[in-house]
Amino acid sequence: MKLYNSLERNIVDFIPINDSEVSMYTCGPTVYDYAHIGNLRTYLFEDILRRSLEFLGYNVLHVMNITDVGHLSDDADDGEDKMLLSSRKKGMSVWDIASFYTEAFFKDCERLHIEKPHISCKATEHIDDMIALIKRIEKAGYTYEAGGNIYFDTSKMPGYGKLALLDRQNQISGVHIDIDSNKHNPRDFVLWFTKSKFENQAMQWDSPWGRGYPGWHIECSAMSMKYLGETFDIHCGGIDHLSVHHPNEIAQSEAATGKKWVNYWIHGEFLLMDQGKMSKSKGGFITLQSLIEDGYDPMDYRFLVLGAHYRSQLVFSTRSLDTARTSRQNLTAKIRSLLEEIGVNCGNELPYSQKSPDNPYIEQFKEDLRQDLNMPKALSRIWAVLKDPDLPSRERLSTAFEMDNVLGLGLKNECVAASELTPEQKTLIEKREEARSLKNWSESDRLRDELLSQGIVITDTPSGTKWTVKV
Ligand code: AMP
Ligand code: ZN
Repeated sequence: MKLYNSLERNIVDFIPINDSEVSMYTCGPTVYDYAHIGNLRTYLFEDILRRSLEFLGYNVLHVMNITDVGHLSDDADDGEDKMLLSSRKKGMSVWDIASFYTEAFFKDCERLHIEKPHISCKATEHIDDMIALIKRIEKAGYTYEAGGNIYFDTSKMPGYGKLALLDRQNQISGVHIDIDSNKHNPRDFVLWFTKSKFENQAMQWDSPWGRGYPGWHIECSAMSMKYLGETFDIHCGGIDHLSVHHPNEIAQSEAATGKKWVNYWIHGEFLLMDQGKMSKSKGGFITLQSLIEDGYDPMDYRFLVLGAHYRSQLVFSTRSLDTARTSRQNLTAKIRSLLEEIGVNCGNELPYSQKSPDNPYIEQFKEDLRQDLNMPKALSRIWAVLKDPDLPSRERLSTAFEMDNVLGLGLKNECVAASELTPEQKTLIEKREEARSLKNWSESDRLRDELLSQGIVITDTPSGTKWTVKV
């Protein structure tokens, strides 16, 4: 697989540390407000990366943080704590704000078919890990104390400029760096805050440097190393993190361990509004919920995002979303007509896994993924296969469903509704649920087999029993 590594400013071969095992960390949301659709573009890109790696046979361990403390309204330690501002504005405690918006975030992800990270970790639950890491950085001689805060001294890190990826970012946008009078160098950053900022900060912990709270960057280093080790394969985020957050993460991690921290840095480009960048803190942003209220399906937005390469800016407009919706509806209509043609009606959404179809389309599709995630091309393959008159309908469908493991458009949902089951089949499902609730496993297995013999595949999930029809 080839991916664009921001660190090398080039498309390079992706070679994981451990054969087919991939360790992947993605910077998660700051949970002081709803995610806007720009944020969600980044999580969609990361989801597509993870699904692609899995499709190509890698075993991915995906970790994502939840920032619920310490992120100021300017990434370089300026401004106010985002959580605190939100809590004041909404009249809720910071803890309630964090749990409310964390839940809202995962709900958006679910609606967009973004796979849950294997580990999602909250900053506030890892304060000890952060303190331990700051101690290591301190011991290695990279810190100083000023005005009650502990700062990272970037001048001690000879590679900071190179690692900071500054050349590329400075070309993209002039970076504003706040001059905090405590800082020895403008690019130095806070590892631990004490009294110098916000006396009324609700979230505070004891530390060797006084009661306070962590700077924003340290959480990603501490949690990623805890779950993925001191060197791991992939670190992702939005392109804005090239300027401050990621250089700082690299500097502090490598100062602590004395070795290379991350091998591949992969950044997703921004979603732009007609009038420029979409921003959470500046207000006026669009949420997934507002799109749904305007009558769109979350899959329309997923389709729109799939149609642009992750390293290209994507300008959002109602027109572009309408076009995506029409294309997606054409695709699902085609799927439905093929299903009708072969006389199969699927039930609800669970994918029915089957052997990968043996035709050139899957190989071409994989090649698109291997070429730095060429999703626009991969998306066009699905049309090519669905329209191929030389392939039997059944194979066209199973190939499209196979591709959908990466695209995540939920194409198997495009099947005729549950009412298409015969009354006898419905009774069998009900009887099986009854047997399960009585823990009568042999009876429930017998009923499952009976349904399977009629082509109905039963799967038990945390949200209940689902069924689908074999294609
Ligand atoms: P935040 O919750 O502000 O920390 O941002 C979450 C993620 O969204 C980060 O990876 C950002 O880089 C990314 N992000 C912020 N704004 C946009 C945007 N307009 N388009 C795409 N990604 C964005
Ligand atoms: Zn981060």
